[in-house]
Amino acid sequence: MSIAIQIENIRKSYRDVEALKDVSLEVKPNELFGFIGPDGAGKTTLFRILTSLILPDSGNARVGDFDVLKDYKEIRQITGYMPGRFSLYFDLTVEENIRFYAKLFHTSLEENYDLIGDVYKQIEPFKHRRAGALSGGMKQKLALSCALIHRPQLLILDEPTTGVDAVSRKEFWDLLKKMQQKGITILVSTPYMDEAALCDRVALMQSGNILTIDSPENIVDHFQWKILSVKSNQMYPLLKDLTQIEGAEQVYRFGESIHLFTQNGTSRMKENILTSLSGKGYQNLDIEIQKPVIEDCFLALMDKPEEA
Ligand code: ADP
Ligand code: MG
Repeated sequence: MSIAIQIENIRKSYRDVEALKDVSLEVKPNELFGFIGPDGAGKTTLFRILTSLILPDSGNARVGDFDVLKDYKEIRQITGYMPGRFSLYFDLTVEENIRFYAKLFHTSLEENYDLIGDVYKQIEPFKHRRAGALSGGMKQKLALSCALIHRPQLLILDEPTTGVDAVSRKEFWDLLKKMQQKGITILVSTPYMDEAALCDRVALMQSGNILTIDSPENIVDHFQWKILSVKSNQMYPLLKDLTQIEGAEQVYRFGESIHLFTQNGTSRMKENILTSLSGKGYQNLDIEIQKPVIEDCFLALMDKPEEA
């Protein structure tokens, strides 16, 4: 039976910083649940509370049948926690790291190979290499192997793909899906909005608040505006000019183009844009209707626009 999590009205401040402002949510058994948010959102603070490494100022959380305020020993038994950094011993080899963690939990790599094998196989060819000499992606696979060694029912992974190259990020998410298929409930945080699509449900966080919680499909379906994607030869003045146009609710730089959110019909808005920009010297002006992706939904919800 996979475990569920209940988080109720959690608050946590560090001196004058409110890291978590009344956070409540539930994670279902065996869910792959993502916490998406920029630096300072409160992701790490929430994970430290769930692993009972720190206490909330108020509120409570239950991990399965256990209470984070009281049952920290039990919670540590059933949880595999991969902190953002430094869970490995860099001067030990890959194999020594695994065996070290196994020993802590009075078990062995061999006893758990059925669970860890999918992950460990990918780093086994380098088992004699020092962990410090691994690539970012391989370090994370080793850290995941170590977090799995005591057969946790819950995995909590704090930004496991930050700073990892695109191919290794994809491989890491494939491994998470495999671990989910083995019945593990997974909480994962990431600053990469595109990774939201890989989760069953996500919470978008900013500055200690949860802005929305839903499946990635629902978040995209509920997007309230139409989007026009605009490009030209001069992107910087284009951004400024587009924000001035009537009916432009929000305007963001989005990769190679600019996304303009509007309530108006898209053809009318396209006319507005062409009229307003005529005579301003733009060349190669290209305006296309764009279907929303999860980044658009998040940008629309966030207080201060972040560049995608
Ligand atoms: P995230 O992991 O999403 O980047 P954190 O939980 O690390 O967010 O931080 C949330 C806020 O709390 C930030 O403003 C951060 O500066 C602050 N904070 C985190 N840990 C501490 C600490 N030990 N002392 C003081 N402030 C902290
Ligand atoms: Mg963090």
